Amino acid sequence: MLITLEGIEGSGKSTQIKRITAHLEKQGRRCVTTREPGDTPIGKKIRAILLDPENSELTSLAELFLYAADRAQHLGERVLPRLAAGDVVVSDRFFDATTAYQGYARGLDLEVIEKIHGMVLKGLRPDLTLLLDLPPEVGLGRAISAIESGDRTVSESRFEQEALAFHEKVRAGYLTLARREPDRFVIIDATLSPDEVTEAVTRAIDERLAR
Ligand code: C5P
Repeated sequence: MLITLEGIEGSGKSTQIKRITAHLEKQGRRCVTTREPGDTPIGKKIRAILLDPENSELTSLAELFLYAADRAQHLGERVLPRLAAGDVVVSDRFFDATTAYQGYARGLDLEVIEKIHGMVLKGLRPDLTLLLDLPPEVGLGRAISAIESGDRTVSESRFEQEALAFHEKVRAGYLTLARREPDRFVIIDATLSPDEVTEAVTRAIDERLAR
């Protein structure tokens, strides 16, 4: 089973992923967590290029292909082998992030993005996608606090390079995707407390596992 978590920065994906793993392991399931971009050794190099603030000349199209390259490597090296072994794979971001960020927010052609996803994913779809939804001003406020308290470094984040309007577009893009595929997506109100979000997230996972 493949579960993906999506959301803008500061939506609490990392916290929830740790709790999801604990929840699934308590049920005796073998579970592996992973992330995009940058889970594999090659992916880490790609992530470094993507998130380096000095690479401001990186074009949107080059950025799109770097995300696709990271994903192809991530799938081949991590996701597909673990799924084949029967594990539950929980990924912090997956292809919907590209549609939301590079498509809806940066304005790249959605059909081109879909074609690339067709090539990379070869029909693979997450069984469940949890969208941790919240207004960007709340998410970015949290991300800034995480940087100030040392929980996150500026280099791990691109938020400071983007205007709030960009994150509004990402959020709206995610919501469009979620409404288009209501069977796959569950939208979670990420303004709730971390414990309340965990409750909603684990309920959605348990419901999906029971199907
Ligand atoms: O998931 P994480 O917060 O580690 O993502 C790192 C950065 O990459 C974030 O600033 C996010 O906005 C950006 N990103 C992006 N396009 C994607 C995925 C992530 O711009 N497709």
